[in-house]
Amino acid sequence: MKYYSTRNKAVKISAAEAIVSGLAPDGGLYVPCEIPKLKSDDIEKLIKLNYQERAAYVMGMYLEEFSETELMSFAEKAYGKNYDTDAIAPVHFMEDGTAILELFHGPTSAFKDMALQMLPHLLTASLKKCGETRKVCILVATSGDTGKAALDGFADVDGTCIIVFYPRDGVSDVQRLQMVTQKGENVLVSAVEGNFDDAQTGVKIIFNDKDFAKELDKSNILLSSANSINWGRLLPQVVYYISAYCDMVSGGKIKNGDEINFCVPTGNFGNILAGYYAKKMGLPVKKFICASNSNNVLTDFLKTGVYDRNRPFYCTVSPSMDILVSSNLERLLFSVTDSDEKVSSYMTSLNRDGRYEVKAEILADIKSVFEAGYCDDDATKAEISNVFTNGYLMDTHTAVAYKVLREYRAQSGDTTACVVVSTASPYKFCDSVLSALGENSDASGVELIERLAHKSKTTPPAPLSDLGGREVRFTGCIAKEDMKGAVKNFLG
Ligand SMILES: *Cc1c(COP(=O)(O)O)cnc(C)c1O
Repeated sequence: MKYYSTRNKAVKISAAEAIVSGLAPDGGLYVPCEIPKLKSDDIEKLIKLNYQERAAYVMGMYLEEFSETELMSFAEKAYGKNYDTDAIAPVHFMEDGTAILELFHGPTSAFKDMALQMLPHLLTASLKKCGETRKVCILVATSGDTGKAALDGFADVDGTCIIVFYPRDGVSDVQRLQMVTQKGENVLVSAVEGNFDDAQTGVKIIFNDKDFAKELDKSNILLSSANSINWGRLLPQVVYYISAYCDMVSGGKIKNGDEINFCVPTGNFGNILAGYYAKKMGLPVKKFICASNSNNVLTDFLKTGVYDRNRPFYCTVSPSMDILVSSNLERLLFSVTDSDEKVSSYMTSLNRDGRYEVKAEILADIKSVFEAGYCDDDATKAEISNVFTNGYLMDTHTAVAYKVLREYRAQSGDTTACVVVSTASPYKFCDSVLSALGENSDASGVELIERLAHKSKTTPPAPLSDLGGREVRFTGCIAKEDMKGAVKNFLG
């Protein structure tokens, strides 16, 4: 199977090349030239398999040049003892019929592990297939979850090293501790003075520095990124939609062939888009409900066809969804319009005016699959408290989805079985979760974890509960201007 850019259908490349490149040279995102289809008895077969086997099978449909053995070995490394449940991505059934797909059982307690535990294996194998002999250095600016998940995925992976910059004034105490205690010989973590934008701008400047790239090339080093536009990050996410469907059937909630809905807390549109690909493969899904916080640019787009980032930016209690430009929406626009020209023109106006608008018939196509809603911080916290009373503790991002789903059900009368995609452990956002439960949340990260465990009578994930005892390895904080120097120093 070949891949091409959402902005240029003329050039076709292999999956390995798409994974090595990340972004296309024209600024577009790589997508498969056609979507492989599930066979009529595939779900029956997949129901009997474990998560690793499901992953190898589904990813294999998109990755012709990777052997079954190869993909199976990646899946076993990516989804093994590093997860705290053999099910890897278990589905929890609530009494009201809602199912919760728990994607936070990996080493960093957020759903980004599902992709970032797999990406290093896909990337290093792709580099070999492309004849690349340079060492790859992953450079990340993070607002929290991605940095830690990428560090954990790439730590001590041969032929790679990873450098993560986080904003000094922009990550939670738990998130910071997770990063500065990261183990591994090939990792560097540094705080940068300022906010996320400062760290992100610094990284972009390094990526665009042609002379620096040449210098690194002489030392046999290639810079790469681990962000969610890479096909190697999106593909592992298709798997859990299909896996959740299998679990709904084997759990007796639906019959094989019945349609279900998914409600997804959304930021960059990567997670929900992976579900859309699963539907295009033939998975029986009626609707995807796109849930946002007060940064509701996607809600407006999915309702009106106007994408407009010219609006205030809110810092919310669901910070991983505080985004005004959802990069992966480009892949949906391409899929619906089937036109690289149209996508290019939308993206040109987004860059120029911060907005674009799609025609009525395109919006109608999108609306036939996507519903949307949003809720603010007060509603998010109220939802955590409500659902906790019913016996389930959830994080702020998942709560946004839960609330949006309840509103959607009330307004539409749609009673289709629905899976809420849960993207983080409540322990990752202790302060907001505690305050939602009416508790004092004024303490250090480690104390808050204990307080939440006491209040909720649940057990924190081991990688978070032992944070207090871990050695702090990285204490540096640098100015934005010194980021390139730090990279140079580290790479020797
Ligand atoms: C990244 C993230 C999201 C948003 O996912 P997208 O793929 O960017 O839509 C939601 N919740 C959590 C906890 C995340 O870390």
